[in-house]
Amino acid sequence: MNILIVEDEFSLADAVSAALKKEGFSSTIKTDGEEGEYGALTGSYDLILLDVMLPKKDGFEILHSIKEEKIKTPVIMLTAKSAMTDKLAGLENGADDYITKPFSIRELLARVKIVLKRNNNIEDTASLSFGDITLDTKTAKLTCGENEVKISGKEMNLLEYLLINQNQISARETLAERIWGFDSEAEYNNVEVYVTFLRRKLGLIGSNVKIKAVRGLGYRLES
Ligand code: CA
Repeated sequence: MNILIVEDEFSLADAVSAALKKEGFSSTIKTDGEEGEYGALTGSYDLILLDVMLPKKDGFEILHSIKEEKIKTPVIMLTAKSAMTDKLAGLENGADDYITKPFSIRELLARVKIVLKRNNNIEDTASLSFGDITLDTKTAKLTCGENEVKISGKEMNLLEYLLINQNQISARETLAERIWGFDSEAEYNNVEVYVTFLRRKLGLIGSNVKIKAVRGLGYRLES
């Protein structure tokens, strides 16, 4: 499993590379847009982590070239926190996922695994755990001990996000944008509705895990 990292911040690229190595993935770092594009178009990679702001050529130009050359390698864009339009542009132009800076290495690794799995490049099941629950994103089953319940669609996306970001508060705005694509009042209501659905399912399987609303901020898992 070889991952191409196109990132001009050396320390970040190195940290990502080291974390991937611990998980058994090898990686190659390219620190400018031209080299990154060359690598993406000519190399044999299982995944490309692509920064947007790069010297010589930006991430969107590279993404465009990748798609134009019909290269099937999945791409995760690394975008700046405030650049909402960047995220949408990335997804519309064929990126498989995006992650906003600053990100935790834990979230990055989880996203890498999910994208690889979605592209069938990885064998084991995509399971995420917290407290007494385990979500298998491949079979769409949420289990607690002997009990299990089917979970799919937006519920799955929401719980997956909360599990990946289990050590922090997930802002309502981020959830709305990540799951429904837009950050608006209507989508905030959706988040609340789906949190209610998930709480019901957690109760159904007898889990101690709670989705706690942190007033004014968002949600966090508690056990
Ligand atoms: Ca950059």
